[in-house]
Amino acid sequence: MHFKSNAAGALANVRLQSVLKRFGGGFVERRATARLAYGIDAFEELRSASAAIRDRALAALDGWLLHFEEQATRRGTQVLWAEDVEDARRLVLELCARHGLRKAVKSKSMVSEEAGLNEALAAHGVTPVETDLGEYIIQLAGEAPSHIIAPAIHKDKGEVADLFARHHQRPRLDDIEELTREARVMLREHFLSADLGISGGNFLVAETGSVAIVTNEGNGRMVTTLPRVHIAITGIEKVIPTLEDLSTLNRVLPRSATGQDISNYFSILTGPRRAGDLDGPEQMFVILVDGGRSGLVGGELKEMLRCIRCGACMNHCPVYQTVGGHAYGWVYPGPMGSGSRPHSMGWRRRSTCRRRRRCAGPVTSPVR
Ligand code: SF4
Repeated sequence: MHFKSNAAGALANVRLQSVLKRFGGGFVERRATARLAYGIDAFEELRSASAAIRDRALAALDGWLLHFEEQATRRGTQVLWAEDVEDARRLVLELCARHGLRKAVKSKSMVSEEAGLNEALAAHGVTPVETDLGEYIIQLAGEAPSHIIAPAIHKDKGEVADLFARHHQRPRLDDIEELTREARVMLREHFLSADLGISGGNFLVAETGSVAIVTNEGNGRMVTTLPRVHIAITGIEKVIPTLEDLSTLNRVLPRSATGQDISNYFSILTGPRRAGDLDGPEQMFVILVDGGRSGLVGGELKEMLRCIRCGACMNHCPVYQTVGGHAYGWVYPGPMGSGSRPHSMGWRRRSTCRRRRRCAGPVTSPVR
């Protein structure tokens, strides 16, 4: 609703405009180079194969979700269903109260941004600490992410240096490597003292009940293995049928997002720590959030559900490149966010896919 005035503010912000000009080339060029290296025809085939995988999952979404739940439960993960983000928030707070959790380290979870989870945790005496470097920076700044894979893309080095000096109460640094090292030192203490790890999930694999996460900083592994409780919060549309499907999608995601052949870290999390495991949480929960997604199934915007959150549409969008992510006023900016927002915000018909125990609708069998 405030896009025009936000955009006008962004256009008049000299510092933001200078940052956005530098951002323009990076991701776009890296994706183009990766596409060329893979072979343009082969890459297009890979995209088509990925779209077909997503369509197959979405055509029987309820069935694959129940299959995921069954397999995850078999391996010791507890699956919880949230009709909306308020539900998800309540479930996390209940788990915190039940397990006596006081500090949460988080790796990037856009659904937790949708839910305003950090504010809710803090209000209930649980300290949330973002551990993705970009998310950590914007948490210190008290801001929302401006890009789904590069949340602090709107900040320059000087702003980060000022933030760190103020919050870390250390001498101001001026070198990016040193700033990163300082963040690493600060975060290490949080990893070791947290009792809760909260992650998102790039994909949910139905055949094994696994949560797959793709990161470049290693924080995802610390979050999901060190604290005694791990909660993964993700949207219901993230489910895919098989590990083979995961392998295909994992070839297209990093190339589209950052131009990498593969991300630095790729984790498949299947259940809590078992006897004989050297690490891992004592308890693992997955919260599956509808949040308007089921309202898109079978409708004219159903292709929005294919989204693998690579961020490429933002990187290539001339509007995004000119005004940045905050102008959109929503967790998901750019073309993808503008399309999905009405459903996420509840400006759509109510979901018929209630939490499973309340579900009155038919369940489609997974097509194998
Ligand atoms: S909609 Fe945007 S973020 Fe989603 S898969 Fe397509 S390009 Fe990537």
